[in-house]
Amino acid sequence: MDHFSYKNGEMHAEDVPLSQIAREVGTPVYVYSTATLQRHFRVFSGAFEGLDALVCFAVKANSNQAVLSTLAREGAGADVVSVGELERALRAGIPAERIVFSGVGKKPSEMRRALEAGIKQFNVESEPELEALNHVAGEMGVVAPVSLRVNPDVDAKTHHKIATGKSENKFGIAWAKAPAVYSQIKALGNVSAVGVDVHIGSQLTDLAPFKLAFEKVVSMVADLRAAGHDIRHIDLGGGLGIPYDPDEETPPSPVAYGDMIKSVLGDLPCSIILEPGRLIAGNAGILLSELLYVKHGEDRLFYIVDAAMNDLLRPAMYDAFHNILPVAEPGDNARNAVVEADFVGPVCETGDTFAKARKTVLMNPGDLVAFKSAGAYGAVMASTYNSRELIPEVLVNGGSYAVVRARPSLDDLIGLDTVPDWLKD
Ligand SMILES: *Cc1c(COP(=O)(O)O)cnc(C)c1O
Repeated sequence: MDHFSYKNGEMHAEDVPLSQIAREVGTPVYVYSTATLQRHFRVFSGAFEGLDALVCFAVKANSNQAVLSTLAREGAGADVVSVGELERALRAGIPAERIVFSGVGKKPSEMRRALEAGIKQFNVESEPELEALNHVAGEMGVVAPVSLRVNPDVDAKTHHKIATGKSENKFGIAWAKAPAVYSQIKALGNVSAVGVDVHIGSQLTDLAPFKLAFEKVVSMVADLRAAGHDIRHIDLGGGLGIPYDPDEETPPSPVAYGDMIKSVLGDLPCSIILEPGRLIAGNAGILLSELLYVKHGEDRLFYIVDAAMNDLLRPAMYDAFHNILPVAEPGDNARNAVVEADFVGPVCETGDTFAKARKTVLMNPGDLVAFKSAGAYGAVMASTYNSRELIPEVLVNGGSYAVVRARPSLDDLIGLDTVPDWLKD
């Protein structure tokens, strides 16, 4: 459930009309809802009641400081994948002891900063990374807490670009190798094994692959403990899907996911870490855009909007579906006759297509549209391709809103480049 709905004939974010934001901030613009972020976080956390669970928001889904601060106040931890995300989480008030550090390519400088901050654990993805971490920790005279990210070789049955748990993926330590790597941790002096970590992919719409992977992990934890390793937590990653398309079947609820995890854990005494990203932020944001032109192609209608693939990459990158709704609530009059249109942006790429032959209503230039479910992997993946400025972000809270990232000027954008002396004069 989200807080973007029609009231008095137009879509609102909570109690703020989207047309007001468009008028005052300009389009395109990302709009997030505080109430939705809070609700998703609470529903997700509530699904693990009775367990010793830490919910670490996957910062890569949405790293805006205002979003992270909202979640920090809800008690969220953070799953970070770079020193940049680590600094963002810390500055938003997420305590280091609630931060886990994932990713296959952590640099020694990033490890050093995370050790200085005192994070909860490193999710280590290879032996060379383990050795590098041991070395950095040794130089600093500390012991790094480690969970090995294991690769359970499970098919997540999601888009191939966001499946991470098969043996052919770059992620995690091969299942059969993991026990030997835990023994290696014991032999090294400046790393200590505190847990086991798994993350098999994103936008999973079925519990079965999760269950398969988690059962394997639970049995590995039992074996590791029997071998004398002090495994205290299991990090089950993120990946629970969200409903993007109202006509598709809905993914399992957080409660069903939590119940499945409880049953897989049984009475294993263990704390758990969860790393949801999309589930918290995805439906808590929309991309608000204006229709620039209605172009009648030879055999189709193009709705050319002012947002483009550089602002919202998911359709171009993952063939992702976003529900695109008119901000003015459609009535039943002729003006709102159902049409099929291709929604496209201004970028000079055929891939800059948000939707093909989408059933929608007849609209006119100047009308506003809302791309739903754009709160995760939206703004964070934006680029300035075609010298388009990064678009602003707005956070709504009840009847008020704040610009939480301003639109940079073209001077800001071009000013990042420098011209060498020999080209001056
Ligand atoms: C991307 C990622 C997540 C979050 O995935 P969602 O599908 O957004 O929940 C969690 N953990 C790791 C290691 C990731 O790479």
